[in-house]
Amino acid sequence: MRGVSAKEEARRWAEEVHRAGGRVALVPTMGFLHRGHAALIEAGVHTGAQVAVSVFVNPLQFGPREDLAHYPLDAVRDREVARGAGAALLFTPDPEEMYPEGFATRVEVAGLSERWCGAARPGHFQGVATVVTKLLNLFRPDEAYFGEKDYQQLVLLRRLARDLDFGCRVVGVPTVREEDGLALSSRNAYLSPEERRRARAIPAALAAAAAAHARGERDAEELRRAALQVLKGAPGVRVEYVAVVDPETLEPLEAVRGPVRMLLAAWVGSTRLIDNRFLAGA
Ligand code: AMP
Repeated sequence: MRGVSAKEEARRWAEEVHRAGGRVALVPTMGFLHRGHAALIEAGVHTGAQVAVSVFVNPLQFGPREDLAHYPLDAVRDREVARGAGAALLFTPDPEEMYPEGFATRVEVAGLSERWCGAARPGHFQGVATVVTKLLNLFRPDEAYFGEKDYQQLVLLRRLARDLDFGCRVVGVPTVREEDGLALSSRNAYLSPEERRRARAIPAALAAAAAAHARGERDAEELRRAALQVLKGAPGVRVEYVAVVDPETLEPLEAVRGPVRMLLAAWVGSTRLIDNRFLAGA
């Protein structure tokens, strides 16, 4: 696995892969890599593509009171995980490389960036869209892989790739979870052992909604209530939102016809966690 931190080297690497007749797959991350990130890399490797992993804690997507300064780092483990999953290139630019002095452009995906996580984190999705646009321009990948764990991000980036004619397939990869159901996340590292136990209520709330749905419940408010009941019973867990949405537009729904997605954000102590789940089937 090659490691580069200059944009021009990354661009040249991708051009060489293409010139040799290969396909380039891109996996953008903020590092502190875990099995969830590895699943994205492996999905690309599995198709025969040369996989580039970017590790960049993107300052543009953090609000002024968010955790940019404390975001967990582990460059040694990042290399191990990326190499172990079969990545061909690890791209680790520093902020000055991505945003040199005078950088002024922002990319906005209207509508999709405003609700749910976007409402709670103003500017967040603009930061995500801007950095991903830059990475798509540098690598010109044939496919880019993103986790379903960040479902709103996945939908928004699919829109972005289509709207801006990147000609790149945006592939969603199912959420990798701990044994007790908690979605793997770099931010889980912030949780104390007690908070980690309490965080179990998040997947349990989604499971309660899925169970209600499986019993035939089709009223979105009732499905939300099933999830909220679990979260309210968990001490130290504060709900930010629970929503039943159209899986493509992310518009909230009242009645459920066909497959829908439940989206959830909650605070466990001072850590904000998100998760989501498909509600589908009979
Ligand atoms: P992050 O480093 O948290 O910005 O995540 C980088 C990419 O990995 C995003 O596309 C995430 O959706 C994805 N990802 C993070 N956690 C998981 C997980 N538990 N399962 C699958 N994908 C994930």
